[in-house]
Amino acid sequence: MNTSEYIEQAESGLLHTYNRYPIVFDHGDGVYLYDIENKKYLDFVSGIGVYALGYNVKEYNDALKAQIDKILHTSNYYYSVPLVNATKKLTKFAHMDRVFFTNSGAEAVEGAIKAAIKYAYNKDGSHDHEIIAMDHSFHGRTCGALAVTGKQAYREAFEPLICEVRFATYNDLDSVRSLINKKTCAVIMETVQGEGGIYPGTKEFIEGVSKLCKENDILLILDEIQCGMGRTGYAYAWHAYDVQPDIMTTAKAVGGGVPVGAFLLTQKVADNSLIAGDHGSTYGGNPFVCTAIDKVLDLFESEHIIDNVGEVGNYLYEKLDELCKEYDCMKEHRGVGCMQGIEFDIPVADIINSCLKKGLVLINAGTNVLRFLPPLVIKKEHVDEMLTILKAALDETIA
Ligand SMILES: *Cc1c(COP(=O)(O)O)cnc(C)c1O
Repeated sequence: MNTSEYIEQAESGLLHTYNRYPIVFDHGDGVYLYDIENKKYLDFVSGIGVYALGYNVKEYNDALKAQIDKILHTSNYYYSVPLVNATKKLTKFAHMDRVFFTNSGAEAVEGAIKAAIKYAYNKDGSHDHEIIAMDHSFHGRTCGALAVTGKQAYREAFEPLICEVRFATYNDLDSVRSLINKKTCAVIMETVQGEGGIYPGTKEFIEGVSKLCKENDILLILDEIQCGMGRTGYAYAWHAYDVQPDIMTTAKAVGGGVPVGAFLLTQKVADNSLIAGDHGSTYGGNPFVCTAIDKVLDLFESEHIIDNVGEVGNYLYEKLDELCKEYDCMKEHRGVGCMQGIEFDIPVADIINSCLKKGLVLINAGTNVLRFLPPLVIKKEHVDEMLTILKAALDETIA
């Protein structure tokens, strides 16, 4: 079958919740993807921040293959060696005390919300609590995660979702302060907003919210699902700020491609929230995905991934800044490390399609923002290659 025949068959069976690009990918190698016609693409999306180590990494693949031959799954009523290793390494890497493994990002957010609500319930016995979340935030598509996602269009048809959620303005400390009342049990936010358009939290804001939370005994939940795992040049983006979240979430890159997530807690929150029977998952943290986490964390260290992001991320930043000066339709360049965006005053869909035709994978974050989310192993030469293609696409589409 050829590409259009595969696409036709897919569209005749799949629930149409995505407008997919007309590409059937087959395999990847390093920072390149190949479709079934063996056309080569430079990847600046990494499966939306998942493939941090790039494609076809032998050590990672070998570890997973070996685990497949042993056992994939045992249920959470038993221990496994990969579970022990992933637990030890991830809590250390994240600077957190306790972890619960999930199968996705949204599920990590669900767990984080449940832990915060249970913590508040233990404290005052009330069932009437509120959460503060941010406008333009994204936390996932399950009901709980959707309830704290600050994009009305995603929530509207599904409301009511969970407890009262009030939305503050990201990077506006007063807007958070004004929403705090005695029912407020948690503030949830991304340390760098991703889907909302790539907005890094300012130092004043992130540290200010943390201080407000401490003063009012409110839990701070940082969603690091997109901005975490080295993407900003730190193990987790919050490590760059003088804060300690009570709960944090991770997913996407933490499994290097296998579906896995986690929420992590401080000892204090762990001691005063979820207990045996309160929460669970059949698959969460099974030996297969924990082998992936274990290997990803090993490779982060041995391949100096975070140092590379620091170096190449700065280069990418400079180059995108220069690019913005050349094109009037570019309004603003934002981001940090390997998580950057350019806001246009026009929709970016045509630009993305043109890039795809020319062998460059880019994606949007909202209608007008072009998002750069490459594998964390890219080099400066890949940035140059990306720019050459992007410029050609720009000249073709906006001229
Ligand atoms: C992707 C994302 C999620 C949801 O993760 P899923 O694995 O798609 O459920 C949650 N929060 C943030 C910040 C994300 O970028």
